[in-house]
Amino acid sequence: TLVLGIESSCDETAAALVDGDRRIVAQRIASQDAEHAPYGGVVPEIAARAHAERLAPMIEGVLADAGVTLADCDAIAATAGPGLIGGVMVGLVSAKALAMASDTPLIAINHLEGHALSPRLADASIGFPYVLLLVSGGHCQILRVDGVGRYKRLATTIDDALGEAFDKTAKILGLGFPGGPAVERKAMEGDPSAVPLPRPMVGSGEPHFSFAGLKSAVLRAHESGQFEIADIAASFQQAAVDCVIDRLRVALAETDDIDTLVVAGGVAANATVRAALEQVAADHGMRFAAPPPKLCTDNAAMIAWAGVERLALPEFSPAPLDISARPRWPLDPDAAPVRGAGV
Ligand code: ATP
Ligand code: MG
Ligand code: FE
Repeated sequence: TLVLGIESSCDETAAALVDGDRRIVAQRIASQDAEHAPYGGVVPEIAARAHAERLAPMIEGVLADAGVTLADCDAIAATAGPGLIGGVMVGLVSAKALAMASDTPLIAINHLEGHALSPRLADASIGFPYVLLLVSGGHCQILRVDGVGRYKRLATTIDDALGEAFDKTAKILGLGFPGGPAVERKAMEGDPSAVPLPRPMVGSGEPHFSFAGLKSAVLRAHESGQFEIADIAASFQQAAVDCVIDRLRVALAETDDIDTLVVAGGVAANATVRAALEQVAADHGMRFAAPPPKLCTDNAAMIAWAGVERLALPEFSPAPLDISARPRWPLDPDAAPVRGAGV
């Protein structure tokens, strides 16, 4: 099996070829950090244009790197949502055109499913079911993963996602864009107990998250002028990790039958987060898995891999060529709304 993956839902333009043996045969990725940095965040219109300019030559490049053509691919898998709609459309329309021209099946991938299955691309021994902590720029969820396409949401955020909290903290502290890696670097020079910060939701009997209050407290601490930037960064990171761990413990009380804990999404690249989760897993007698950092942040290998997994389903059928891009697309459509929370 060989699948071409295309990712364009946020500010990474990416293409990759992944085979059925989990080999990333070729991959290219172009970050738009330089374009968005002057604005301190991703500007959707700039992102869509950048994807449109870069994607076609990138796909050509990936095929050339691998020495294959579309005729050698068993499917073309493209992110069809959720994400910034202009960018998703660029990737999906390109995939449709290639699928039509080469008579290759099209697979419309949920970007979150790409993240959710990425631990299985990195490690063949990760089987279902597992508990997934999905922490990215737009999502903060705990899910029970029983198989490809079988997701039960156990928790979500009632306001900001964890990656969003890192990004906002970076902006407040003047650490630049993208925020997560900048906060992590700065935190290494600071004292995680120097600044008293709240741990929203800790102690709540339901496993949901909240980070808006933490971000506001970071702003107040910074404006007070009493603290070093590095100490605020380290204290924020510690508070965020404490929240995640407490919420996860509540969720894990409901999943006694599962022995594997995995983390995915951009924030899973954070070493302090990974170390804390490893400890939670150990405390629960669970196995812990985290993809290598480069597979945590947005990439096309995870999209191609989700395509490989979908292609192998007995009920697989290709996506119709008139399928729409979806700005919102929950992994668990049956999850009940939580007090004003997103999906
Ligand atoms: P979503 O997947 O929800 O649609 P996204 O695709 O924008 O959102 P990802 O690329 O998966 O998100 O992750 C990006 C997020 O991860 C950003 O918020 C970024 O700050 C955060 N992030 C990346 N690296 C780190 C790190 N080392 N520490 C903390 N956060 C990080
Ligand atoms: Mg990005
Ligand atoms: Fe993502």
